[in-house]
Amino acid sequence: MPPKHRYYSVPTKKKVVAFTFDDGPRPWTNQVLDALKERNLRGTFYVIGKDALRYPKILKRMVAEGHEIGNHTMTHAWLFRNPPNEVPHRVVEQEIRLAHEAILQTTGVAPKTIRPPGGLLTEEQSRWVYEAFGYVDVHWSVNPGDATPGRAKPSTAVFRRRVLSQVGPGKIILSHDLWKSTVAAIPSTLDALLAEGYEFVTVSELLAIDDPYEAVQWTAEETKALQ
Ligand SMILES: [Zn+2]
Repeated sequence: MPPKHRYYSVPTKKKVVAFTFDDGPRPWTNQVLDALKERNLRGTFYVIGKDALRYPKILKRMVAEGHEIGNHTMTHAWLFRNPPNEVPHRVVEQEIRLAHEAILQTTGVAPKTIRPPGGLLTEEQSRWVYEAFGYVDVHWSVNPGDATPGRAKPSTAVFRRRVLSQVGPGKIILSHDLWKSTVAAIPSTLDALLAEGYEFVTVSELLAIDDPYEAVQWTAEETKALQ
């Protein structure tokens, strides 16, 4: 089987989630880091390369406190647009490479995964990114709708409720620390997930527990039906 290069969630029965934060860093990303630190939790930050260069201290803090940093391109560029406005391959390559270098130079740690802005990446591009950069292409399975174009930003209560109504074992939670409204919603959302018994892992830790056999473990009834 070819290596799996795109994920929305990981099949598991373990109550683990990966909380991801996109489009930063911004000065208020420190508040997200404070909230995670107070609860001894780790997350994954899909940073924009040019903002990583603007706020190197925040990136260094992320690494020092055990968080993972992923690639969200250099300028938050769309990597795919429908014909006739396709994105030239050299632009895709440059956007990813420059962000990779910005993160590596700032923190000394190379990112291992990419979240394409807007989730826009074709199957073919995703495969190429895996081959060229070794990146797994990470989407999401919980979306609080805090960056949906044309929609009002959710209040803290709405953000938390949307996360809790979609969450499940092995899911990847999308959020955007670009927005102060999201940052405000993080502490109580973390507490609610902890109260439900969820453990927090980084994206790479979540992908590492992907067990292809777990997804096809049959129930006793299913096994009986086969006999
Ligand atoms: Zn984004």
